[in-house]
Amino acid sequence: MTKVGFIGLGIMGRPMAINIINAGHEVIAFDVFPTAIEPVIEAGGTAAASCAEVASNSEIVITMVQDGPQAEAAIAGEGGALEGASPGDLIVDMSSIAPGVSQRIGEACEKASVGFIDAPVSGGEPFAISGDLAIMVGGKADLFERAKPMFDIVGKSSVLCGEVGAGNVTKLANQIVVGANIHGLAEALALATKAGVNPETVVDAIKGGLAGSNVMNAKGPMMYERNFTAGFRIELHQKDINNAMETARELGISLPVTSNLQQVLTSLVEKGYGKEDHSGILHYVEENTGVEVEKF
Ligand code: NAD
Repeated sequence: MTKVGFIGLGIMGRPMAINIINAGHEVIAFDVFPTAIEPVIEAGGTAAASCAEVASNSEIVITMVQDGPQAEAAIAGEGGALEGASPGDLIVDMSSIAPGVSQRIGEACEKASVGFIDAPVSGGEPFAISGDLAIMVGGKADLFERAKPMFDIVGKSSVLCGEVGAGNVTKLANQIVVGANIHGLAEALALATKAGVNPETVVDAIKGGLAGSNVMNAKGPMMYERNFTAGFRIELHQKDINNAMETARELGISLPVTSNLQQVLTSLVEKGYGKEDHSGILHYVEENTGVEVEKF
């Protein structure tokens, strides 16, 4: 049995922490939003009063917060995990944040002789509940091996992608492919609808060919059935694409498709669609084309 600290018990962190408890480990939990930890306490976890208290009572600390500023505050900020951690402990940040921020957190951990790896996930709430997340890891191989028993509980795959930050680079690559795919699918279904072809039929006809993808299987029906209940929120995808563009700027490369996606997501958030599923990129296409996509 391992003593696992868990910081950030939101949509993703809550089921992940519960799966770790159900696998027989001890979980010490903290969230700045106190009611967030209640289901974890009901499942057998223990409450802590701060990130530092979590770290002083556990061997591995997992953080699952929204973005870089929250991850930095939870780990390296005042009252953060590093204040309670002992040399040799391990902190695993599973939030999706900018790779440069992961590296900064990694340096702060190294100064305190605490191990650090970044390990963002793909799969969303359903896979967090079923323990089937795909995990992309950055850091030293021995630290990856130490964290692997936890990854095997919360995920169905975990891949070491490189040094600290490489997990989040991989996650950004994932988010570019997914976002561009959704945007392309939305334009394809608007074209088909305007031309008088049922969008459901189009998806059925092409999903077995080269255009077929997990994105098409999951988001195509959401579009033509007009169900935009999140899933993965537009505002979170905007955050990831902002991080992708920030990283591209740091690296000095231009990414026009990603840059356009950033504009599309920003426009949708400004118009109040931020809490909808990212299949709601369709709204942007519909407002541009004047076409409403629905199966018939
Ligand atoms: P969420 O907003 O539901 O949960 C984040 C939690 O962290 C909140 O409860 C918040 O109170 C807590 N928190 C923030 N700062 C804290 C601090 N300093 N100390 C303690 N607790 C703190 O977000 P989520 O949907 O669970 O997403 C978490 C991360 O996982 C994000 O980076 C997101 O991009 C990523 N992700 C989400 C999904 C998804 O479908 N929701 C899928 C893949 C990856």
